[in-house]
Amino acid sequence: MKAVILHAKDDLRYEEIQTPEPGEKQVLVKVKAAGICGSDIPRVLGDAAHYYPIILGHEFSGEVAAVGNGVETVSVGDRVAAVPLIPCFICADCQKGSYSQCRNYSFVGSRIQGGFAEYVVLPERNVVKFDENVTYEQGAFFEPSTVALHGLKCAEYQGGKDVAILGGGTIGLFAAQWAMIFGAKRVFVFDIDNERLELAKKLGADVTINTLEPNFKEVVKEHTEGKGFEFVFETAGVGATMKLAFELAGNKASVCFIGTPTKDLVFEPKLFENMNRKEFKLTGSWMSYSAPFPGEEWELTAHYFRNGKLKLDDSLIFQKIAMKDAKKAFDMYKTPGSVKGKILLINE
Ligand SMILES: [Zn+2]
Ligand SMILES: [Zn+2]
Repeated sequence: MKAVILHAKDDLRYEEIQTPEPGEKQVLVKVKAAGICGSDIPRVLGDAAHYYPIILGHEFSGEVAAVGNGVETVSVGDRVAAVPLIPCFICADCQKGSYSQCRNYSFVGSRIQGGFAEYVVLPERNVVKFDENVTYEQGAFFEPSTVALHGLKCAEYQGGKDVAILGGGTIGLFAAQWAMIFGAKRVFVFDIDNERLELAKKLGADVTINTLEPNFKEVVKEHTEGKGFEFVFETAGVGATMKLAFELAGNKASVCFIGTPTKDLVFEPKLFENMNRKEFKLTGSWMSYSAPFPGEEWELTAHYFRNGKLKLDDSLIFQKIAMKDAKKAFDMYKTPGSVKGKILLINE
């Protein structure tokens, strides 16, 4: 088979290698579409790869091409999305169903072979079946969708409330959709890019706010009568939005950090004090798993893609690029700001 192999920093090659074979309770997946995740960029262009040579890719879908002995839940021809976390299932956290907190885990596309290839072998429980009316492109968005939904679970989300989504990237726009599916009173999406905000509107957001507008906080105050939001989801992982979350939270709100910071974060006492005064709850969210593995995040993504309530708008996809041209795709990230949305690598 052909695969995109990372040999060293910024050294991606499309090469012929041995096609893997599924062992006991494993399946061979013929990869159809694979997304490039933000976390793949430093693995290719920086020093974040665990080892070389490696095949990356953890957001992908495909068709089951073969099954090993003892596989019962999927068959050849099934359409599946990959579930990249391989927890140990033994440690105390795994026994409690906190798979994201497992310390002895493996991960498809960062520790073992990933989906930037024609084929990949996965454990049977690391694939989620989806319906024929769900496209392989949607299949490649299961992982980001589940990450967003996991944030709602961490925040103990409930409907009937005003929700702020900070950041209109892939995760933010899925978080907005989940908040609506589960009955938000109103969803507000905050971003600095009007195109992303238009997309948020198109996907059903009630109010979109460009935080570059000097008076945007006044606008929010008018909309919420100064009460702020009962749920705040931070999805960008940048200082400005993490701080804004503290300002936008209402009394007794639930605030969830889904985005992961990459720089020092400084909260002035007055800003931090918001958490004391408002007595809001702040929680983090990590990956997208719950019991029974891989969790309802995955089952519900398959369900709501099938019934059409969860949408993959074409504008969430920046470009579709042939797998053999993966290097060109990663080269685009060398120009900051030039990639707007998800790049999908496609096996024709
Ligand atoms: Zn990812
Ligand atoms: Zn474990």
